Amino acid sequence: MKNITILGSTGSIGTNALKVIKEKKDKFKVIGISGYSNFDLLKKQIEEFQPKYICIGSKSAAEELKILYPEKIIYFGDEGLKNMGALDEADIVLTAISGSIGIEATVEAIKKEKRIALANKETMVAAGEYINKLLKKYPKAEVIPVDSEHSALFQSMQGSGKNEVKTLIITASGGTFRGKTLEYLKNVTVEEALKHPNWSMGKKITIDSSTLVNKGLEVIEAHMLFNIDYDNIEVLVHPQSIVHSMVEFVDSSIIAQIGVPDMKLPIQYAFTYPDREASTALEKLNLKKLKELTFDEINSDVFKGVQLAFKAGRIGKSMPCVFNSANEVAVELFLKGKIKFLDIYEIIESAMAQHELKAIETLEIIKNIDKETRKWVYENYGRD
Ligand code: NAD
Ligand code: MG
Repeated sequence: MKNITILGSTGSIGTNALKVIKEKKDKFKVIGISGYSNFDLLKKQIEEFQPKYICIGSKSAAEELKILYPEKIIYFGDEGLKNMGALDEADIVLTAISGSIGIEATVEAIKKEKRIALANKETMVAAGEYINKLLKKYPKAEVIPVDSEHSALFQSMQGSGKNEVKTLIITASGGTFRGKTLEYLKNVTVEEALKHPNWSMGKKITIDSSTLVNKGLEVIEAHMLFNIDYDNIEVLVHPQSIVHSMVEFVDSSIIAQIGVPDMKLPIQYAFTYPDREASTALEKLNLKKLKELTFDEINSDVFKGVQLAFKAGRIGKSMPCVFNSANEVAVELFLKGKIKFLDIYEIIESAMAQHELKAIETLEIIKNIDKETRKWVYENYGRD
C-alpha cells in the first residue's frame, strides 16, 4: 500500500489522480489533499477518500473545514502547502498545482526524500537547476514525470543508458490555433483560446497550449529532468496526440510511447513505476481506428512560445524563471481580458530583455526573481 498526497486535488490532474486511485484502492491510499478555493469539491473528496490531512487556500475556509471535520488535520495557505509536501506518512507526493506556487512544497517533499510525481512543470522550469542540486543532496528522493510528453520520454528510455540517447522528440498537438495566421491571432478571444482540441485541462495550461508556451515549458522541463542538451531536443507538431513523445537513440532507432490522450496513464505510471499495472480506469487505444499519424515543424513565425523557451533555457540561470513568471502573469492578464493574445509573447520577450541574469543558488533568490518579474509585468502591462 502506497500513501499518496495530492497537491491540487481539485484540478484537472488532481481529479484524474483520484480516479486512478479509486480503481486501485488495494494499492493506493490518499493521505492528504489540497485545493485552493473549490470548497464544495474538496468537501466531496474528503468524504469519499477520507484523507487525514487537508489543505485549503484561506484561513476562514480552513476554520470552516475544522468545524465539519474536527478529527482531521487542516492546514491553509502557502505554509500549509509546505506542510503537505513534507508529511511523514506519505510515500508519493503528486504535485498538481498550477504555477510556480508549487515550488516550495516540492522542495519540502525532496528534503523528506519522497517520490515526487511531478505534474507541476512550472516548478521544474523556474527552479530546475536548484531542484537538481537538491536531488543530489537527497539521493533517495526521486522525480517521476507526469506530464504526458515527459512520461513518454521516461518510458521510452527505460532500459537504456543516458549516453545512448541522441535526441528527445517532444510532440505538440499544436493547440487550438494550429494553422492560424498572426493576423487571425490578433483578435482571438479567451473563449476561443480555451477550446483545446484533444485534452481537457485547467485554464492556465490550456492557454499555454494555444500559445505553444506549454511546449516551451516542456522543452525546459525535459532539459532539467533528463539532463539533455537543448541542441538535442526537438519539437514536432502531431495533431492526433497519439504519439506522446519519442526518443531517438545513437543507433538511429526511435522508441515512442503511444496511447489515447488521457492523463490517467502517466499519473498511474508515476505511482507504480517501475512496475505497470492493469486498471479499469485506463482506456485502450484502438489502433485500427487510427487513420494517420503526422509530424510537422512548428510555425515559429506565428507561435513564438517554443523559440522563446529555447532562448531562455540556453541562457539558463535565472532566465527560465523569468520566462515562466512573465508567462504566468501574462496568462492571468489575458484571462481577465486585460491584454490581447499576442501580447503574451511581447510580455515574455520584454520581461526577459529587462532582466539582469543571476545564479539561482537559493530558494530565496528564485522567490525574489519570481516576485520582481511579476511586479514588473503588472506595472507595465496590468494597469487599468
Ligand atoms: P487546474 O487549474 O485544473 O488545477 C490546479 C490545482 O491547483 C487546483 O486544485 C487548485 O485548487 C490548485 N491551486 C491553484 N492555485 C493555487 C494556489 N495559489 N495555492 C494552492 N493551490 C492552488 O490545473 P491542471 O490542469 O490540473 O494542471 C496542474 C499542473 O499540471 C500544471 O502545472 C500543469 O501545467 C500540469 N499539467 C497538467 C496537465 C493536464 O492535463 N491538466 C497535463 C500536463 C501537465
Ligand atoms: Mg504536456
